Amino acid sequence: MKAEDILNNLDFDRKHVLHPYTSMIDPLPVFPVKSANGVYIELETGEKLIDGMSSWWAAIHGYNHPVLNNAITNQLNNMSHIMFGGFTHEPAIKLAEKLIEILPNKLTKIFFCDSGSVSVEVAMKMALQYWHSKNKTEKKHFATIRSGYHGDTWNAMSVCDPVTGMHNIFKESLPIQYFISQPKCRFKDDWNPADFKALNDLFEKKHHNIAALILEPIVQGAGGMWFYHPQFLIEARKLCDKYKILLILDEIATGFGRTGKLFACEHANIQPDIMCLGKAITGGYMSFAATACTEHIANTISNGNPGVFMHGPTFMANPLACAVSLASINLLLNSDWKQNIMHIEKNMREWLSPALKIDSVADVRVLGAIGVLEMKNNVDIKKCQKEFVKQGIWVRPFGKLIYIMPPYIITDNELKTLCNVILNVAKNLN
Ligand SMILES: *Cc1c(COP(=O)(O)O)cnc(C)c1O
Repeated sequence: MKAEDILNNLDFDRKHVLHPYTSMIDPLPVFPVKSANGVYIELETGEKLIDGMSSWWAAIHGYNHPVLNNAITNQLNNMSHIMFGGFTHEPAIKLAEKLIEILPNKLTKIFFCDSGSVSVEVAMKMALQYWHSKNKTEKKHFATIRSGYHGDTWNAMSVCDPVTGMHNIFKESLPIQYFISQPKCRFKDDWNPADFKALNDLFEKKHHNIAALILEPIVQGAGGMWFYHPQFLIEARKLCDKYKILLILDEIATGFGRTGKLFACEHANIQPDIMCLGKAITGGYMSFAATACTEHIANTISNGNPGVFMHGPTFMANPLACAVSLASINLLLNSDWKQNIMHIEKNMREWLSPALKIDSVADVRVLGAIGVLEMKNNVDIKKCQKEFVKQGIWVRPFGKLIYIMPPYIITDNELKTLCNVILNVAKNLN
């Protein structure tokens, strides 16, 4: 594209096209992308950037992957979409079969939906309909831990962190939920039972009103990139059983190998009643998600009144999305993914930990293919981003966090460059 056209485009974008979480009149600068291939993102202005974000956890196999391209074009030649009311199709059936094979074994019912946030809405509706069917309509609130993130739609937003989330603007209109403190015990620390007392106290007092506990297992993502102790999940599962509260695990960010297990709940060896999947499910090709539940949940809802689960989006089980998801999961399972993620983890530990010597850095943490630098102060995103691009990497910080979750196909050299540039840039922040 000619330099003049690029400028015109950027000018139009700035005036008319809205971007995530930015001013509608004075947005932060954006970079025009021309294409993306493997771990590289190519800008219209010529730079090639090593991708550290996997387009927000999603593009685990990198971009423009021939196997995924094939899956989607083959499906396109049959049909791109068909309504799911009254019809079914092979891509949906094969994908459900594959998910049931790899998910915790009690999750045998799959609801395909449009995005992560919607899959959280679906999960919350399932929980409410479950209690409705049991004539326990007073169980209508949700419990969660602080610093969580579950999406931007209404009920998903109601269980996001009440301080860093969007509550301060919307709180008058949001349903009331119960928040307890975030588990402070780190993933690899010794377990401290004190971490768990708040949940115990809350359930003891309020269990009559709580439909479900919703958690991001092990890794809290957009709410603070925090890795907590698996014992918290084990205790949470026990308490949910004791007090007859459903457990929803939001694996939208953690699913499909990111933490070193196929699903993060495997670190604790527990199973939820309902699980949300999204982001990497399509290998980052398109918006798609799934909510899985146990047969017990499905049966209870369907034996109640009105006997059907009340959700059904227009693009439910979109065949293109199902086909590319199946291809992406097979690609993952046929690779040596576990070994590979452990290798990425070891390298990130080695190449990011020197950051601990930098004055402005408060903490460095790594789990699976996720690396985090927590700075002492909020990062100047505009300045930081410009510097990253100049030095050939794509990383998008937020708040005090500079974090990476690269595509699994990243090579050692590319990962080393990614880490080194982050350290270089962090040195010049204060
Ligand atoms: C991204 C995310 C969501 C929301 O997914 P969208 O596809 O953006 O709607 C929900 N929960 C978690 C844990 C996420 O990381």
